[in-house]
Amino acid sequence: MTTINDALARAHHLLQQDMLGYLDTVEHLTSEYDTDDDTILTVARTEVPRLIAALRGTVTGHKPDLHGLCLGCPPTWVDGRLGREAWPCPTISRAQEFLKNPDSIYDSVPHERP
Ligand SMILES: [Zn+2]
Repeated sequence: MTTINDALARAHHLLQQDMLGYLDTVEHLTSEYDTDDDTILTVARTEVPRLIAALRGTVTGHKPDLHGLCLGCPPTWVDGRLGREAWPCPTISRAQEFLKNPDSIYDSVPHERP
């Protein structure tokens, strides 16, 4: 019998595979080794704005409050009380790291290396 948790785990897995498949396709279609220049230009014109929107949408809520704590990260229990991440939080730090050095993602997740 499939439980709701099993169904949700499956749905999350499919969603992640869908996003990773999309990224693999864009990466392949914009590879100078695999694709002609006209295709690269066409794919870049349609997909770069979508990727920018995805990144912007991901990081936009991660901004500091008046105390320098991130408004986008969920509170977590630290020493018996709820606390929040200092800004820049891990989401912002990782996004900035990957923008500066895109290959660094493969140090974090080597199984994603193309
Ligand atoms: Zn955050």
